[in-house]
Amino acid sequence: MASDFIRDMIATDVETRKHDGKVCTRFPPEPNGYLHIGHAKSICLNFGVAKEFGGKCHLRMDDTNPATEDPEYVAAIQRDVKWLGFDWGENLFYASGYYDQLYAIAERLIRSERAYVCDLNEEQMSEYRGTLSEPGKNSPFRERSVEQNLDLFRRMRAGEFKEGSCVLRAKIDMASPNMKLRDPAIYRIKYAHHYRTGDAWCIYPLYDFAHCLSDPMEGITHSLCTMEFESARELYDWVIAAAEMPWVSRQTEFARLNLTYTVMSKRKLLELVEGKFVKGWDDPRMPTIAGLRRRGYTAEAIRAFCGRIGVAKNLSTVDLALLEFVVREDLNARSRRVLAVHKPLKVIVDNYPNQTEEFHAPYWPEDVPNEGSRSLPFSRELYIDADDFMETPPNDFYRLGPGREVRLRHAYVIKCERVAKNAQGEIVAIHCSYDPQTRGGVTPDGRKVPGTIQWVNVADALDVEVRLYDRLFVTERPGEARDFKEEMNPKSLMTVRMKVEPSLKNATIGDRFQFERLGFFIVDADSQPGSPVFNRTVSLKDSWAKQTSKSVQVSPRASKPKTEVKATVAVELPVEAQELMARHGISSEEARTMAAETHILVLFEGALASGGASKIAAALACNDVLGEVRARKLEGAPFSGKALAELSQLIGDGTLSSKQGKDVLGKMFDGEGGPKEIVKKLGLQQITDASTIEAMVDRVLAANADAAARFRAGNANVLGALVGLAMKESGGKANPKLVSDLLKKKLA
Ligand code: ATP
Ligand code: MG
Repeated sequence: MASDFIRDMIATDVETRKHDGKVCTRFPPEPNGYLHIGHAKSICLNFGVAKEFGGKCHLRMDDTNPATEDPEYVAAIQRDVKWLGFDWGENLFYASGYYDQLYAIAERLIRSERAYVCDLNEEQMSEYRGTLSEPGKNSPFRERSVEQNLDLFRRMRAGEFKEGSCVLRAKIDMASPNMKLRDPAIYRIKYAHHYRTGDAWCIYPLYDFAHCLSDPMEGITHSLCTMEFESARELYDWVIAAAEMPWVSRQTEFARLNLTYTVMSKRKLLELVEGKFVKGWDDPRMPTIAGLRRRGYTAEAIRAFCGRIGVAKNLSTVDLALLEFVVREDLNARSRRVLAVHKPLKVIVDNYPNQTEEFHAPYWPEDVPNEGSRSLPFSRELYIDADDFMETPPNDFYRLGPGREVRLRHAYVIKCERVAKNAQGEIVAIHCSYDPQTRGGVTPDGRKVPGTIQWVNVADALDVEVRLYDRLFVTERPGEARDFKEEMNPKSLMTVRMKVEPSLKNATIGDRFQFERLGFFIVDADSQPGSPVFNRTVSLKDSWAKQTSKSVQVSPRASKPKTEVKATVAVELPVEAQELMARHGISSEEARTMAAETHILVLFEGALASGGASKIAAALACNDVLGEVRARKLEGAPFSGKALAELSQLIGDGTLSSKQGKDVLGKMFDGEGGPKEIVKKLGLQQITDASTIEAMVDRVLAANADAAARFRAGNANVLGALVGLAMKESGGKANPKLVSDLLKKKLA
């Protein structure tokens, strides 16, 4: 597994024995819909890192909204995570399992004057909240006494008040620049039946409260979530600290996966299901795990896709073509090749005797090391695909035409002698001759027969239903300009009939095949014994890429419109990018970027030449530098590779956190000098001076004597919290390893 900023961070934490060197992550879906390919990214990351670092990953149902949650979804989530190849073992949890504890914590917050019951209605609440540029105002209920608040909160719980009449709010800071900290609601009244707790509760904790407390309750070390929670991190830390949790989890954000031609929010997917725009959550056109599975995707392909897109912070939309490329690669090695004809055209082999012969045909081409074969019946009357015949073909049409020869896969070479038409002048059959010398497709005289086509025997061809799928939306970003449902592709499902070889009669649900020249297919659950129904998983080639194949030829370094670059790279990694990947050990995404953006490549290679840490430099160059260059509409970065190398070293050796690194980078773009200069100016250097650190550690120990006592009494978990407090004391600037070492020494 290639590394990324999260794995790097966890490796450091394990090395510095933060959390005693333990790693515990979680995947926390809300059971209000089926999981989609975006969730797969999060699943692969959370379960993946847990496995790589010998830790655990919990599966937690984040079920605090009784109105939308359902046991059907709980079951589907478990099925999908398992199918993807991950195992939570004993560690299946429910946020609803913590209702008692959460309630007790809420009362504790009231007692310590960190929460109050507020009667403002929703409209007033948002008016009091202020805006990004203006501070909010304190609620008139903010100064209620502890006794009053306790009484009101208990009566909320007892069901004395109407829904919406009041909420419990955290008492933080109505003037905070972070809107999330302006006294967020943490409990609300809701008279609804919960699928697990029934009618036991009429107040429910809100996400921001329940989620960040569930993490430390389970001993989660690394709480990995998507970027939209970045501004919630301060609240996350506040809640854990205010609740005086003995365990401190840390939140880190990464970019969510977006795919072109797809919608991925569960709300929108639910709309498609409920509005019957698709046949259900597992409709093969849906980006859900269940849909992809039914479509014929393998868990291996989805995991490989998640590995390829990597994990970073910059928002990126991945082309659907990349997903299809990966699944093709995977299916190629596991799908038996069989013969099928889409638009049957009858061929009569006039010189073939009145008999049926059987060809022993291997399922696999020579370059795919797999075994097995079937027998293929052949006789005078066959079907070929109508598209494989032209009455007046151009020269480069290497299939059948009057007087031309073609090879029938696994069988003989045939030659078109004449065309039979009906009264309307339509072709009804092709009369051919066959060459008995060419059994198995060889031409003993060495004559050239350039084309090979598929066929089936008329007498025993199986007529089957086949479902051909295309992307669900016609626009790259559905919903951007109009309602997403108005941008659905009317041809996303085409149900056709095909003639297939008789061996497919016994195919069972879930069997995968390649229909030669037509695509990869899977037997659908709608099949009946002896009458299989097939889904096309993916075609053999990207038909959309063909239209832009010219751009593939263009040197990737030449400047060209952005969409063309995307079309080129999504299909296959350009040769140049492959070389870059191999040469510099960078990710495929980075190689792609560098192949397309010369200035980034030049900058990165400059950094390498001056000894810059390659991994960090590559990530900085491809994400942050490129982002700044684009945002500022520049031609390239206004500094050299050497400066980039310097910055990556400062991040690599821990002088700067990655967040600080970004700030410094911004200043480099502002022309404020080199990284070291800026670090000095901003006073960002890490504190490594032993006596300064010792003074801070002592202050923390003095203020948290009880925690220190718990540690000495054997609760090793407390160490992480103390390190966190000392780090905070230093404004995040102390060297964490020195802090941790010193604390251990003092507590020993
Ligand atoms: P949606 O917006 O699709 O409804 P959600 O975030 O509300 O998704 P949850 O069930 O809360 O859905 O998600 C569970 C976990 O999966 C969260 O940690 C979330 O960050 C992550 N996740 C959701 N969507 C994506 C995505 N597109 N890419 C990566 N991770 C995702
Ligand atoms: Mg959510």
